[in-house]
Amino acid sequence: MREELIRVEHVSKYFAGVKALDDVSFSINRGEIRGLVGENGSGKSTMIKIIAGVYEPDRGDIYINGKHYKRLTPIASIQEGIQVIYQDFSLFPNLTVAENIGINRVISKGGRVVNWKEVYESAKEGLSRVGTDISLDAITGKLPAADRQIIAIARALLEDARLIIMDEPTTALTQREIQYLFKTIKDLKKQGISILFVSHKLNEVKEISDSVLIFRDGKKVLDQEAEELDIKTMEYYMTGRRIDTSSIAYSEPEEAPPLLKVKNLNLNPYFSGISFELKPKEVLGITGLLGSGRTELALSLFGELPAESGEIWLEGKEIFIRRNQDAIKEGIAYVPEDRINEGLFLEQPISDNLIVTIADYLASKLGIISNQAKLKTAEEWVDRLEIKTPSVENPVSSLSGGNQQRVVLAKWLASNPKLLILNGPTVGVDVGSKTAIHELIRDLAKQGMGIILISDDIPELIQTCNRILLMRNGKIAEEFQREKVNEEELHRHLVAAKS
Ligand code: ADP
Ligand code: MG
Repeated sequence: MREELIRVEHVSKYFAGVKALDDVSFSINRGEIRGLVGENGSGKSTMIKIIAGVYEPDRGDIYINGKHYKRLTPIASIQEGIQVIYQDFSLFPNLTVAENIGINRVISKGGRVVNWKEVYESAKEGLSRVGTDISLDAITGKLPAADRQIIAIARALLEDARLIIMDEPTTALTQREIQYLFKTIKDLKKQGISILFVSHKLNEVKEISDSVLIFRDGKKVLDQEAEELDIKTMEYYMTGRRIDTSSIAYSEPEEAPPLLKVKNLNLNPYFSGISFELKPKEVLGITGLLGSGRTELALSLFGELPAESGEIWLEGKEIFIRRNQDAIKEGIAYVPEDRINEGLFLEQPISDNLIVTIADYLASKLGIISNQAKLKTAEEWVDRLEIKTPSVENPVSSLSGGNQQRVVLAKWLASNPKLLILNGPTVGVDVGSKTAIHELIRDLAKQGMGIILISDDIPELIQTCNRILLMRNGKIAEEFQREKVNEEELHRHLVAAKS
């Protein structure tokens, strides 16, 4: 059973006008290993010091063992079982191991004469709880960092620690020492002790933590089970800028009969019972984990993997898509995920690639389309999509990934489709091109196109779509209105789709 040890609610802290913590809430359960990650300056140390009673929060509440605190003092924090191991371990280098571990406890009892035998005994008890063979008589400063850390942990345990906070504990450790520390942390967990593992090393946090908190600019931006997280996602939340959607000019779907209507579409074993509608000028996101059926659904709308049963209606008329050509004829375009393999003739000039279909391509080779006309069209598209190239006659392979992707887009846009299906349109493109592609997608929708965007890039979905469908095991499991969902929530739903 989950039993809560500490809960921090709506804590804010300012330093001379700098907001070090902004409305942060979280809790730690007994025996839970919590990772806390964030870049430098994100507020980690400030939070530690608030929990340790060193700083007073400007706002918020702290509950420990069910007891409410407006502010803690260092003594109250220690009495509640909170122990912080700072980066320097706060040990006396010239004292022995026994003295470092045992002396606090003896002093805190308030005796005037230090009973060294007692010091020694309690130190021994402390070390036995971390299961190490470090000599009690060794001079602490001469020991390796890993040993000093274990000593600091032993000392914390003697203070009846219920929560041990470790601030960047692996900085001075070798790989082997880190593994030893992790083993110790897991033993502590078994004893019901909670750990707050503070670090910016994501792989370590992922490995050791049960759940992870991510701070960015003083805000908590993610709070999630570690096994649901991958390093890339953590990185994104740690470094990424939160999207300010207020300034994005979204397309407004038209209050009109649907452009596309899909009814009970099935294709074994990929998807079944798929029904949805798409309005003109709407950007509809379809997301889901790999294997959810999202790509197969797109391919079947485009005729590459025709559905076995169900109906597809376009502009109020039922259409039958059994091959690519059927889809193209109806005005459906598909931009594949893998631009290199599926979308482009890499060694051919950009201009040739911009010619719409294979048939046009052949016609141009045969001289039916004049070279001049071709170049003019190509140049228009290069301008319109801001494709960065000195000449449209250079091969596509000379372009950056983002610009190649724009060529694929241009190629399909030139055919002026009614429905544009984009699969992972910004996978592997640089940030600048990514933003430009998102803008383009919204613009195209505004001009009247219906767009289906298949992606598992959450910021992309939120920045581009009006509505998002989440697929799970070949079915549409959930639907989100863009205004009513944020990144964190959508991410949570997406990974929850795993189970
Ligand atoms: P982290 O530990 O994640 O690197 P900190 O909690 O140390 O972050 O810092 C959060 C923010 O608060 C930073 O902008 C930092 O400059 C500021 N800050 C932290 N401590 C103080 C202080 N004592 N006085 C003024 N500003 C501080
Ligand atoms: Mg810090």
